[in-house]
Amino acid sequence: MQKNIAVIRGDGIGPEIVEQALKVLDKIAELFCHNFEYTDVDMGGCAIDKWGDPLPEEMLAKCLASDSVLLGAVGGPKWNDVPGNMRPEKGLLRLRAGMGVYSNNRPAKIWRQLSSASPLKASIVNKGIDFIIVRELIGGIYFGTHKTEFADGQKVAVDELKYSEAEIERIGRIGFETAMKRGKKLCSVEKSNVLDSSRLWKSVMHRLADEYPEVELSDMLVDNCAMQIVKDPSQFDVVVTENMFGDILSDEASMITGSIGMIPSSSLGATKCGLYEPIHGSAPDIAGKDIANPIGTILSAAMMLRFSFDMENEADAIEDAVSRVLDAGYRTGDIFSSEEGLTLVGCSEMGRLIIENIQKG
Ligand code: NAD
Repeated sequence: MQKNIAVIRGDGIGPEIVEQALKVLDKIAELFCHNFEYTDVDMGGCAIDKWGDPLPEEMLAKCLASDSVLLGAVGGPKWNDVPGNMRPEKGLLRLRAGMGVYSNNRPAKIWRQLSSASPLKASIVNKGIDFIIVRELIGGIYFGTHKTEFADGQKVAVDELKYSEAEIERIGRIGFETAMKRGKKLCSVEKSNVLDSSRLWKSVMHRLADEYPEVELSDMLVDNCAMQIVKDPSQFDVVVTENMFGDILSDEASMITGSIGMIPSSSLGATKCGLYEPIHGSAPDIAGKDIANPIGTILSAAMMLRFSFDMENEADAIEDAVSRVLDAGYRTGDIFSSEEGLTLVGCSEMGRLIIENIQKG
């Protein structure tokens, strides 16, 4: 199969981790007889430096013309003081909106080899952690009007949180469909005791539930959900929630699985062209040292193969290779511990080991 992948290396550790993911894709192409072509796209701080814009129009056009987009991470202290609409993260928001990817899916799954890396007690971890957060990605408070005004002699800031029934329905359907493919349990998370947007959210979810009688729908307030994720994460199968709640809860969920460096994500809209990225940021504190964990990015590439290119066996081959490398005790710094039998490796060595362990069939 021939596929054109837009590649955004970005800032900080972005280029290092993306390089490893591309080498893994090259190995898959060689073993399974595919042809992956890569188109470089500038986005984030590096695009500000080069083009004066975090996502120039022609860069967005390259992404839209591709079969899918693989992203490392963007941002860093160098661009902290640029005006709000020119910040690296604005490039990411514009990319998500431009691609129309309204659904962000983040698995929160503990690798059995890393269960001791979870900050939770063994008695909680041993019950299992394996759920997905389906987060609405291009609506809500991040995309409402933002303004700071002067009133009564002081600054007053306003951020608008708006959702339409149609926006809620399309993400709700992704939640129900995802639950249908898993354990058929969907938890809808909102703040309906306070927010109108959440009351609308809840009513749309319950209307949709009639179409999915096999799915057990439950409602949970976001503050309770934040507690339940650390108290008993085994209760969750699929969580569906709005943009900001999903942003916060998915970071919390990633932490209980051990390391933010392990977790991939996919963002999809109405087409097969998706955006695939690790959930972490550009980690400027460790950039350029060859110590970052590339596994989140490598697993994002596996998700791309599975969800956008329908290459199930190829995705399995990558995930199995990661599992074998962890079984053999290799760890980057973020998942290393003093446990016996572990070997500390850097970013490029971790990439090399995963490639070495990729097998067909
Ligand atoms: P971060 O995720 O970059 O880093 C948080 C901590 O996790 C740091 O200690 C870092 O060293 C560590 N870490 C992250 N990824 C790792 C990896 N792969 N391997 C090992 N350790 C890893 O979050 P932050 O420090 O809050 O943000 C840094 C920059 O990234 C900011 O400019 C922020 O805006 C940006 N950011 C970008 C994205 C994105 O591109 N999607 C997401 C979040 C943050």
